[in-house]
Amino acid sequence: MELLNQLKQQLQTLDDQQLIRKRRTVDSPCGPRVRVEGRELLAFCSNDYLGLANHRKIKLALQEGAAIYGVGSGASHLISGHIRAHAMLEERLVQFVGDHLEAPRTISFCTGYMANLAVITGLTAGDKQAEIFSEELNHASLIDGARLSRAKTQVYPHADLPALEALLKASKAATKVVVTDSVFSMDGNLAPLPQLLALCEQHDAWLVVDDAHGFGALGAQGHGVLEHFNLRSPNLVYMGTLGKAAGVGGAFVAAHETVIETLIQKARPYIFTTATPPALAHALLTSLDLLEGDEGIARRASLQALVAQLDEGLRLERWQRLPSKTAIQPILIGDNAETMRAGAALYEQGLWVGAIRPPTVAPGTARLRVTLSAGHTRQEVATLITALNALALERT
Ligand SMILES: *Cc1c(COP(=O)(O)O)cnc(C)c1O
Repeated sequence: MELLNQLKQQLQTLDDQQLIRKRRTVDSPCGPRVRVEGRELLAFCSNDYLGLANHRKIKLALQEGAAIYGVGSGASHLISGHIRAHAMLEERLVQFVGDHLEAPRTISFCTGYMANLAVITGLTAGDKQAEIFSEELNHASLIDGARLSRAKTQVYPHADLPALEALLKASKAATKVVVTDSVFSMDGNLAPLPQLLALCEQHDAWLVVDDAHGFGALGAQGHGVLEHFNLRSPNLVYMGTLGKAAGVGGAFVAAHETVIETLIQKARPYIFTTATPPALAHALLTSLDLLEGDEGIARRASLQALVAQLDEGLRLERWQRLPSKTAIQPILIGDNAETMRAGAALYEQGLWVGAIRPPTVAPGTARLRVTLSAGHTRQEVATLITALNALALERT
């Protein structure tokens, strides 16, 4: 069949470029130690930054949620699938980020990917002349949201405030939407949000902040990047995910109540999908309590100590560290094949570290992406440091 042959050829091309990806089936809960193909591995690749994904209290809450609400929600939010647990989650989330917004309200989503599609299409839906200004290193879901919106989109270079300012000045659009990751997912560094927000206020633009890697992990109370920078503005539209530091799944958007009402009315990724099982929302209430409470504070402190330990311990001869103070600690290698060899060598030693290649990152910037979790011990991080230092000495 010619159609199949075409696909096979495309896959072969990927393989020739060392770009074929393989899934590994995990036989244990998410955690620092996982079982894969009969081996126990030390994992440094999940986004479970606080080690909550397998937390006893959240698991009990999920069971309780199923007992109260059953399993499926049965319909989309606008039909009959908006269950009490979803409403409670949205109200609780206002307490997390409401201090940073005007007339705050939140809306929950099945995934962060869908939340991003919804925000960007929703904010631009009513204005054919709307313009989007998108940071170069933005997550794929933000890029896809801009594409789906069909609005004119200009990409500004990474963290380049003067370039963004020039674009905003030149724009005649009534609706301007600046879109950025807060913590860049493959680099680990923070966007210059205070300066970005000042620019947006000056030019009457929305600032959409994707805090997938900050929510729960940043800020004294785990409220995320807005707490970290102490920002407050009616121009802010905040997206937080609930499957990373929060350890469960789903996402939410927080903004002025008028923005949220607009999303409810217009955002197709919200309207045309079945609401998440309400038990997940119920479990999230426990996760949010943990994030805000003493346990969250202690877990964020351990995570920061592990980040410092890695920073002090790594002595990489040939490879470049990227300047990150977050749980995302990339090691830039450059070449796809060398990156894959390094990842495979670690794996052989029982260390599971993500090897990231294009198109997830720019060509020539393949890297190992180490992610740390409060669930790791100092000894485990020491094991990783020793292995990486030795590997960076070898000629491969
Ligand atoms: C993970 C991620 C998302 C998507 O969130 P999901 O809930 O996994 O769909 C969006 N933006 C960024 C920056 C992310 O890292």
